[in-house]
Amino acid sequence: LSAKEQEVVDKIEEEGVDFLRLQFTDILGTVKNVSVPARQAEKAFTEGIYFDGSSIEGFVRIQESDMRLKPDPETFAILPWRKKEDSAAARLICDVINTSTGEPFEGDPRYILKKTLKRAEEMGYTVNAAPEPEFFLFEEDEDGRATTKTNDAGGYFDLAPKDLAQDVRRDIIYGLESMGFEIEASHHEVAQGQHEINFTYDDALATADNVGTFRTVVRAIAAQHDLHATFMPKPIARINGSGMHTHISLFDEDGNNAFHDDDDEFNLSETAHSFLAGILEHAPAITAISNPTVNSYKRLVPGYEAPVYIAWSDRNRSALIRKPAARVPAASRIEARFPDPSCNAYLAFAALIHAGLEGIENDLEAPDPVRENIYDFDEEKREEYGIETLPTNLGEAVDALEEDEVIYGALGEHIGPKFVEAKKSEFEDYIIEVSQWELDRYLETF
Ligand code: GLU
Ligand code: MG
Ligand code: MG
Repeated sequence: LSAKEQEVVDKIEEEGVDFLRLQFTDILGTVKNVSVPARQAEKAFTEGIYFDGSSIEGFVRIQESDMRLKPDPETFAILPWRKKEDSAAARLICDVINTSTGEPFEGDPRYILKKTLKRAEEMGYTVNAAPEPEFFLFEEDEDGRATTKTNDAGGYFDLAPKDLAQDVRRDIIYGLESMGFEIEASHHEVAQGQHEINFTYDDALATADNVGTFRTVVRAIAAQHDLHATFMPKPIARINGSGMHTHISLFDEDGNNAFHDDDDEFNLSETAHSFLAGILEHAPAITAISNPTVNSYKRLVPGYEAPVYIAWSDRNRSALIRKPAARVPAASRIEARFPDPSCNAYLAFAALIHAGLEGIENDLEAPDPVRENIYDFDEEKREEYGIETLPTNLGEAVDALEEDEVIYGALGEHIGPKFVEAKKSEFEDYIIEVSQWELDRYLETF
């Protein structure tokens, strides 16, 4: 065992952990787990744990189904909502290994992100990321099923008594902190029942791991309060949806922020300008991955602080990318505002980072920032500024993904086609559905 692995084995003993949840993520970003008795920890580290990959969405066919989980000891954490006096459960996030080759499995989203970070490393960079996942808290009905009834009527930064969710949010934060999260801030978001909890940045892999954990903790602790937490992007029409703004910066080999430049008007280096230009260029294809549900596109409409137009800004929240104010050089970064929390964070980060690195490699130049509210622009003005529009639905986004070699390629030969196939069928399924809106509008009119 490595030193870190031994440390985990010792912790398991000390903390009385009796079950280990070995976790990984399928293509759609759903966290999967298999539970093993904690005494198997050593074996899990040395031999791995075998499982049938054919039952996992987008993984493999029956005839090549044996997969092995290789736990990453860096990810050990005790699950706070399972803790009892004399027993505890812990999780370890795993890499998926193809048993026939002994190599990392191409269908493992975590591996796709690792490959992306390798590319960054070869260019001399480490990548930092921090997401801002927003979510709603809804009441449950008598059968314990989720409703869309919010449990409060609070608004942005509201305090109690309007913000009834304070206690829940506090418990969620305790839970996250006990799992190693460093919480920066939490607040009631703009919409009623909507919340945001921010945690500190980390390298992009740890952050993607954190997103999965975050969603699990929020849902589990909300459930203890008889509430349903949802990361669905737009659960209620005509009020703000939930985004997962993603802050990104690159650090160079000396540990300096490669995105910072004192002399630039926006304190952004040329590297940062090219990186964001790369994201703008590939935005339509990235959207299929960062906004991967039919519902995602109900959020990307004008008027709700979510982006619609492909532009960047140093102040404006209607832009796709924003340059947030930074107090110190280390904090210079860009904020991609289009991703939403229904995405698979490993794949979304991989797509964003690949696009950015491509921008750096090709010395792309960023257009001027747009300082006005782009929601107010008409088509003519957008044309004058050269501003394109994001895909307006999942179908368009998937088409853009298929046409974009860089982003499609970023997903690898296994996940690329599987992802496109899954999303096309999801969109087709949606298209043939008849919605309540249509019935309300047409049933009695025609
Ligand atoms: N909820 C908004 C969105 O959909 C973002 C609000 C904010 O700026 O935090 O992206
Ligand atoms: Mg927010
Ligand atoms: Mg933000």
